[in-house]
Amino acid sequence: MSNRTFTMIKPDATEKGHTGAILAKINEAGFRIAAMKMIHLSKEKAGEFYAIHKERPFYGELVDFMSRGPITAAILEKDNAVEDFRKFIGATNPAQAEEGTIRKMFAASIGENAIHGSDSDANAIIEGDFFFSKLEQY
Ligand code: ATP
Ligand code: MG
Repeated sequence: MSNRTFTMIKPDATEKGHTGAILAKINEAGFRIAAMKMIHLSKEKAGEFYAIHKERPFYGELVDFMSRGPITAAILEKDNAVEDFRKFIGATNPAQAEEGTIRKMFAASIGENAIHGSDSDANAIIEGDFFFSKLEQY
């Protein structure tokens, strides 16, 4: 079990001014920020990040969405980080997300769902390294 996960506060949440509120909740939930930056992904980079979904019908929409404005990318540290963070953000579709989760509070739809969380320890490392050099991970 690794104790790190990777997250992005997505363009919809950035546009609505929710970055600070979401970061505060991340800290309150016991996650330590080990790396963080704000970045506007190109379509190419957004497509590369979500390459696993290339064959899905929503891929084009997802790439357009994720490259339409800045995101905040971060590596987070906590015991059982990947699983606990997925619980903390809630279901992919906010209509199915539990009360008190980030997506319940801040997401509008399954496409524009405010936040990303890694789905495995292996992907947490791959995704963190996609955004941050070793020197930028504390
Ligand atoms: P993320 O990887 O962003 O944390 P997730 O793991 O909950 O989300 P995935 O199945 O990995 O969900 O889908 C990646 C992203 O693709 C979703 O967060 C959402 O933005 C978008 N997406 C997923 N399913 C749909 C859909 N049916 N229609 C539109 N967009 C979708
Ligand atoms: Mg996913």
